[in-house]
Amino acid sequence: MSYVMDAKCTVCGHVFPAGPETTVCPDCGGILDIEYDYDAIRSALTKETLAGRTDRTMWRYMEFLPVDGIGSRPRLRVGGSPLYRADRLAKTLGVKTLYIKDDGQNPTASLKDRASAMAVVKAEEAGKEIIACSSTGNAASSLAGNAAAAGHQTFIFVPARAPKGKVAQLMMFGAHVISVEGSYEDTFRLSAEAIDRWGWYNRNAAINPYLMEGKKTVSLEIAEQLGFRMPDYVAVSVGDGCTIAGVWKGFRDLYEAGFIDRLPRLISVQAEGCCPINTAAAAHTMKWKPQEENTIADSIAVGVPRNPVKALRAIEESHGVAVNVSDEEILAAMRLLGREAGVFAEPAGAAGTAGVKKALETGLIGKDAEVVSLVTGNGLKDVSNAIRAAGEPIRIPPEMDRLLEAFAEKGLMKD
Ligand SMILES: *Cc1c(COP(=O)(O)O)cnc(C)c1O
Repeated sequence: MSYVMDAKCTVCGHVFPAGPETTVCPDCGGILDIEYDYDAIRSALTKETLAGRTDRTMWRYMEFLPVDGIGSRPRLRVGGSPLYRADRLAKTLGVKTLYIKDDGQNPTASLKDRASAMAVVKAEEAGKEIIACSSTGNAASSLAGNAAAAGHQTFIFVPARAPKGKVAQLMMFGAHVISVEGSYEDTFRLSAEAIDRWGWYNRNAAINPYLMEGKKTVSLEIAEQLGFRMPDYVAVSVGDGCTIAGVWKGFRDLYEAGFIDRLPRLISVQAEGCCPINTAAAAHTMKWKPQEENTIADSIAVGVPRNPVKALRAIEESHGVAVNVSDEEILAAMRLLGREAGVFAEPAGAAGTAGVKKALETGLIGKDAEVVSLVTGNGLKDVSNAIRAAGEPIRIPPEMDRLLEAFAEKGLMKD
């Protein structure tokens, strides 16, 4: 059985029954939060029962999830991503302990799979066969993949600027793709209108309260992987704000159910060229202002965030810090993650780590901290920015003399 009690509006506080198609508050339009019976979870699930489970996917935390089960349709393997202790990278950044949670290892190569897997199950509960969303790219490709596995049709709206790798995924998974000549904001608006018109299941993250419940499983995993001992900080890159809100919800749920006895602080990382949430967070206000979408990190280029209330509340409640990073700093973090940890991140995926570096340099966080940095998406999704970060290889004709010349030039293999 599910331990969900109700859905509570984050703006007016009104409480409603949580149905599979529950979206926003019928009274004020605010985003809803799913509430659980934590006492019941506490008696149903212990750390020991959990440790005995062989399911390594996100569904191993069933008691914390808003579903009764996942039905019998085929599913992709979502969750269970590695948490690496990155000592070399920690030393380079000048921090005591650093872990990298590589969520780029999900089936469609981003953290968004956690939300999409949830959306597909909720769509089935609602009896809907067609699922739709708008997205900067990763929500789209994850929905397309997870829906394809279960045999659903998808309609996907992406801004025309979405990187080719992500669009290729969509086409490969058989989605109906609408590439919108406009900003993410324009794309979102059109998708909302179409969803209304044709009655598709709505996977738009900030409208559908269940998606955050999927995303929060990343925190449940981090906690379990660390033996339920909390780090000082968790760094997250922020666009719409659903991911950081989900990360916070996961830790809060664990705290309420008695699995952890303290909460980490969040490091909210945005791009300098598009940082409406961090600008508001730094001023300790909920009044954010739209910004241009000016960064190579397409997944967090969100000028009009869809979930600012939950995100800002999460940052504030956690006594978090807000850090903005330049595109150069993001490219540098991509190189560092690759070279010092063997992790290949897309720009938005590396932004969290760029934020950790900057927070250390500017003294926002202390050097004796223990930090988890979330890598939210894989670098193969955006190959042109990877080449931009890492450069081109040595190119020569197939002759040993040329190889020796090239090595001499680069100072390689001198004896
Ligand atoms: C979506 C996404 C984010 C940010 O998540 P939001 O919910 O939009 O804040 C960060 N990184 C990657 C790779 C993403 O796809």
